Amino acid sequence: MEQTTSHKKLDYLIIGQGLVGTWLSYYALKAGKTCMVVNDSHTTSASQVASGVINPVTGRRIVQTWMIDTFLPFALKAYSDLGALLNTTIVREAPVVLIHPSLQMQESFEYRYEHENVYLQKNTASDFEAFMHTPFGTGQIDQTIWIDLNLMITGWRAQLIQHQQYIDTKFDIADLQITNEGVTWKGIQANRIIFSDGLGSMQNPYFKMLPFAPNKGEALIVEIKDLPNQTIYKHNLSIVPWKDQLFWVGSNYEWEYADAAPSSAFRTKMEDALRQLLKIPFKVVDHIVGIRPANQERRPFVGLHPSYPSIGICNGMGTKGCSLAPFFAHQLIEYCETGSPIHPEASLERFEKNLKKKT
Ligand SMILES: Cc1cc2nc3c(=O)[nH]c(=O)nc-3n(C[C@H](O)[C@H](O)[C@H](O)COP(=O)(O)OP(=O)(O)OC[C@H]3O[C@@H](n4cnc5c(N)ncnc54)[C@H](O)[C@@H]3O)c2cc1C
Repeated sequence: MEQTTSHKKLDYLIIGQGLVGTWLSYYALKAGKTCMVVNDSHTTSASQVASGVINPVTGRRIVQTWMIDTFLPFALKAYSDLGALLNTTIVREAPVVLIHPSLQMQESFEYRYEHENVYLQKNTASDFEAFMHTPFGTGQIDQTIWIDLNLMITGWRAQLIQHQQYIDTKFDIADLQITNEGVTWKGIQANRIIFSDGLGSMQNPYFKMLPFAPNKGEALIVEIKDLPNQTIYKHNLSIVPWKDQLFWVGSNYEWEYADAAPSSAFRTKMEDALRQLLKIPFKVVDHIVGIRPANQERRPFVGLHPSYPSIGICNGMGTKGCSLAPFFAHQLIEYCETGSPIHPEASLERFEKNLKKKT
């Protein structure tokens, strides 16, 4: 995948290297194209604080998530391939143990287990009783995927740096010129610029009219020495293996928030919930926050601007970046290179009218 980029017109200028920018640059290079990734590592990114879980079912009714039968195998292969390229393992299948928080959730699980069940499995509550209270029993979700996002993003960044395909700076749209042949930014010419800058796109004059609906999420990083770390646990909070005996504990979904700072209310709520759930000691070692680049439709924004086809976007991944990012980054690069279609529910074409209003 090695590319030389100096003094030549690039195929892609990619803005942002969270989950989406990582996958865009991966697929661009895999297609034999040249690219430069511009990322401001000092801007907070949702990908840095995400737990990295792809859970095939969701909500109180434990129903399957959108297109999961397509996304799950695609993601498993994509993350495995990228891990192999980085000479490490960034993905593994880890079952979710459901510790039912109420009778209602236990009944919900039993109902779904009997009806249209693909991913649910029975397990034995006594297996977990040494470290958790399980008054309403337990269940299990299979085929869940856990990704080590920090390892993936930093590992991929190191490769980009090694091949002179990464610039660490804050991109400013004022420095961008659109030409007949593509775009120019600070002397770098490219056929296309693709924005994968998460919340940054909300200020982008070409895309700010998209229905973004950012959403704040917090997590605690907690040391739980005696908890087996090959499993994800879900109660009215999620406990996800992070590193060694550290676990990611969260989260919340705040649509209205005053700032992006950690809140004491969240910390107190999580600590209380952990005390109620766990029979073993725990120690909070960190409190992290991110803003999810979510949107009102819960479907991503993927495509090229209808009036400026040298400008594209892959964004709006919301709560599901881990499953959506590899699939839609791949679709966008394929669309640019071969014209193959983008899934209509994700395609930018649905906003054509609004986007064309940009002068
Ligand atoms: C607490 C929490 C838990 C989550 N857990 C999960 C989970 O378990 N599973 C899941 O699928 N999803 C999860 N998510 C959602 C997931 O994090 C997002 O969907 C995903 O990370 C979005 O990726 P992105 O690349 O679009 O944006 P980001 O990760 O925000 O990346 C954008 C990048 O652009 C850079 N950037 C921004 N502006 C500029 C600029 N002007 N110049 C240069 N660079 C710029 C930023 O530095 C960043 O690197 C979670 C989110 C949160 C907050």
